Amino acid sequence: MMIVMKQTASEDDVRAVIERIESVGARAHPSRGDEVTVIGAVGDLEHIARLELDGSPGVDRVVPILKPYKLASAQLRHGERSVLEIGGQKVGGEHFALIAGPCTVESRDQTLSTAHVVKAAGAAMFRGGAYKPRTSPYAFQGLGQEGLALLAEAKEQTGLPVVTELMDARDLEAVAEVADVIQVGARNMQNYALLTEIGRSGVPVLIKRGLSATLEELLMAAEYVLKEGNENVMLCERGIRTFETAYRFTLDLTAVPVLQELSHLPVIVDPSHAAGRRDLVQPLSLAAAAAGADGIIVEVHPDPEQAICDGPQQLRTEDFAAYAACVEAAAAVAGKTSFSSAATV
Ligand code: PEP
Ligand code: MN
Repeated sequence: MMIVMKQTASEDDVRAVIERIESVGARAHPSRGDEVTVIGAVGDLEHIARLELDGSPGVDRVVPILKPYKLASAQLRHGERSVLEIGGQKVGGEHFALIAGPCTVESRDQTLSTAHVVKAAGAAMFRGGAYKPRTSPYAFQGLGQEGLALLAEAKEQTGLPVVTELMDARDLEAVAEVADVIQVGARNMQNYALLTEIGRSGVPVLIKRGLSATLEELLMAAEYVLKEGNENVMLCERGIRTFETAYRFTLDLTAVPVLQELSHLPVIVDPSHAAGRRDLVQPLSLAAAAAGADGIIVEVHPDPEQAICDGPQQLRTEDFAAYAACVEAAAAVAGKTSFSSAATV
């Protein structure tokens, strides 16, 4: 249920509505837009309906949210896009965020040198995995705590917010100490216990679309985080499984405008994991930016031939500045007026 407040509604009116919603055991999620305040009420619909909020002071109207995802729905924000503020960077609306870094943290040199290169080229955030979801249990699983310490050092030296994956809720505290954004990998998109814990932590989150997940399933995953009161959610299209085998996954760029139609949340695209091949990363990035994506998360490595994982798809650090300039131009075509570090709050 969505309670749309009048433009003239006072803070007291808003507070009173929230208290009444909570009095029947439902949760109230107020969002204060430029024009009006809208309060999402999530819980037992019959209980909420019995409150007859239509007649309450300051309430303009009560509207049902028809989609199964409520807090993620575009309807909740009246079509206004969410703009997240993460470590001094804005994401969403007119703000485009380029997130870059290696697939995995391998060594101090590799991590710090890559962080400096992406920072110099105007990246908004630094990515790198300390816990890696690998198909084989015998493959390198990430440096764990040691990797987190290297990410912390990269953040300290460059000032870039860090995006890193969490796979196991038992590592949440350690990861949250370093991460400005917790990444939920494609394989964990429907790990509802993990999503709930991240929701409770309040740490911003980037949720990757599962390998065979529909957009509705992705939005329901986001709903698990939002339901816990964590509003800082980004959605990420990273390629889905189709019958095509010429490349790793099929990047579903139709998802960009469609997710933006269905939801107010920023939509990020990962061209690296979709392509699996370095030569495809730039064309896919340009297409994503031109399609209106709110950002790109891309893998970069100083020596991809020696990379422990995902070497063939990682951009070379020496090519990164030219790549970033092309992406910025494509994002501008789609109306993004502020790009990465230019978007400092
Ligand atoms: C990654 O970002 O390194 C990764 C493993 O991504 P995905 O979950 O999309 O496969
Ligand atoms: Mn990778």
